[in-house]
Parts: sequence; structure tokens; C-alpha cells
Amino acid sequence: MESTSATCQVCGQALIGRSDKKYCSDQCRAQVNNGKKKADTGERLMLDINRTLRRNRSILKTLSPLGKTTTRREYLVLQGFDFRYFTHQYQTRQGNIYNFCYEYGYLLLPEEKVLIVNWQSYMQAK
Ligand SMILES: [Zn+2]
Repeated sequence: MESTSATCQVCGQALIGRSDKKYCSDQCRAQVNNGKKKADTGERLMLDINRTLRRNRSILKTLSPLGKTTTRREYLVLQGFDFRYFTHQYQTRQGNIYNFCYEYGYLLLPEEKVLIVNWQSYMQAK
């Protein structure tokens, strides 16, 4: 049997036995798998959020291709709009806060209404 100087990829301990082993123990193997699972969860969460943001944007775009449009909140919900997700905010001098999904934003109005607006270059100023 050929001797190898392989070491565990997690803890660095010398590996004994089969030369195709990567980890010294089940514990080290589990640690790697847990790490992978965590990374996958993060990736999946990002993909889900990105998808939601893109859907929100396309709903706003469809409802308000140009300029300002007032619509009912429930109408956005029916289209699958998710009010929990937006990319950034813009606060007017009057204190109104617009939530944006990329270049389309909205302001919640009284009586369950929503004002949809397009991003304007002056909004960039902080
Ligand atoms: Zn190990």
C-alpha cells in the first residue's frame, strides 16, 4: 500500500487509511456539509429576494409606465406585489417616504391608495 502524506481538509490532522479520504472524522465531514448548507441558504435567500424585487419592479412598471399613477393598494397585492421588499427609499422635504424597487417607487396614500412614481435624478442627493 502506498503511503500518503494527506491531511484532513478541515483540521489538518494526518489521514490514516484509505487514500481517497478527505476528512479525518465524521465531525470534520459534518462541519464541511454544514458550511455548504449555510452558503446555499444565503444564495437561495438572495435569489428569492432578487426575484421578488424584480417582480415588484415589473408590476410598478406595468401599472405606471410613464410619470405618476395613483392606484389601489389591493390592486398591487393582486398582481403579487410584496410590500416588504424594496431597494431604497427617498424622503421628500415634506417627510413623505417613497419606497423604490430600482427605478420605480411608490408612496402609500391614505385610504389604501398608492402613488407610483419614476425615479428622478434629483432624488440621488442625500
Ligand atoms: Zn479533521
